[in-house]
Amino acid sequence: MANYQTPRGTQDILPSQSRKWLQIETLIRSVCDVYGYEEIRTPMFEDTKVFKRENDSSDMVNKEMYTFSVHGEDSMTLRPEGTAGIIRSFVQHKMYGNADLPVKLYYMGEMFRYERPQKGRYRQFNQFGIENIGVKSPMIDAEIIALGYSIVKGLGLQSVKVLINTLGDEQSRSTYREVLKDHFKDHLPELCEDCKRRYEINPLRLLDCKVDHDLECMKTAPSLEQSLNEESKEYFRQVLGALDALEIPYEIDARLVRGLDYYTHTVFEVVSTHPESGTQATVFGGGRYDNLVEYFGGPQMSGVGFGMGLERLLILAEAEQVPLEERPALDAYVMALGNVGSKPLELATEIRAAGYRCEFNAVPRSLKAQFKSVDRFRTKVAVIVGETELQQGMVNIKDIKNQTQITVPFEQVIDTLDRILGGEE
Ligand code: ATP
Ligand code: MG
Repeated sequence: MANYQTPRGTQDILPSQSRKWLQIETLIRSVCDVYGYEEIRTPMFEDTKVFKRENDSSDMVNKEMYTFSVHGEDSMTLRPEGTAGIIRSFVQHKMYGNADLPVKLYYMGEMFRYERPQKGRYRQFNQFGIENIGVKSPMIDAEIIALGYSIVKGLGLQSVKVLINTLGDEQSRSTYREVLKDHFKDHLPELCEDCKRRYEINPLRLLDCKVDHDLECMKTAPSLEQSLNEESKEYFRQVLGALDALEIPYEIDARLVRGLDYYTHTVFEVVSTHPESGTQATVFGGGRYDNLVEYFGGPQMSGVGFGMGLERLLILAEAEQVPLEERPALDAYVMALGNVGSKPLELATEIRAAGYRCEFNAVPRSLKAQFKSVDRFRTKVAVIVGETELQQGMVNIKDIKNQTQITVPFEQVIDTLDRILGGEE
């Protein structure tokens, strides 16, 4: 028989894990809510052109996309990231006309990248992200870092730090591109094939290469700082000043250029310093983009955003032993002794309608076996339906913690549960 398995780089989220997912998602939604971000849900696939923009040199776009064409129709791509689809939607629905800029959006869902699977790196993974579009201000760059940081901290993670850098405005970056080209000109033969291509298309990306990372010419590459114009320097100073004021610790990382081509000014990554996080240490990363809205056919409008990997968040929570929610104890278990027909189901339905978590015994089993179930579910109250009591319209109710038992008429079951269960937390 065929051996059916999850595709490489994907995973099933089983019930023992899904409650933790829900906890993280709930935390994220509540933080977004207080920050005034609203959810946007865009398609999981888009026209390939949405992701593959002219002259894009990133690995994600050139090597990692799931691209397909069905019945000879236009080429489509499973979304590898959130931002492009959202800006496409922002322009399509003319959200730039909103009287109250910035438009503040968040998204949560599956992303797809053809990668070599490792712990914390999958082919289907989940990202939460935000986009703040329409107002360019260093205060907003700092605000969204604060938002992401408060989620990571709110979950209870301790060992994280913010790495930050600026790519400057278009003018600063084109100065820097020339400086870099000049520097790498004599080192071209040493560089990997990808870097040779990057040299032509976008020399900034050379600094992000994982293959050539340790070459001497990488280490001696001039930093972007010297190419920044005064305006870009001032913008960055204000971002850092705001982070200081918010008491968010950061490190300036002059080599940080980030994986996507569209960033300008602020770029940042929040990374874990926990030993178990290994090379998949980035929890979230993002930056400002000045030209993306225009690229998609909207007005010249700046935006800033980040993407956060939820699998990585969970892995780190486990590594740091942050307590996440387990399945809660069961409120009531309805036991059946002898021939009691549908009464246990009826009672369970009534108890559930009153808002208590309840299970019932559906097939004939010994009292001992049923008490084992009561134990396994960490049940608080056992409701015992016996043949004799049933005829008298009565049931036994046992408070498991106190080991006390009383007999009550059917009509008083809920009141009795309220009394026993309401008395505790
Ligand atoms: P990396 O350098 O680790 O490949 P990236 O720069 O490609 O990251 P982004 O495109 O910025 O990542 O995505 C934002 C976040 O999404 C990352 O910080 C990470 O937490 C998560 N992420 C990215 N790729 C994967 C993946 N293949 N599996 C799981 N999480 C991922
Ligand atoms: Mg990547």
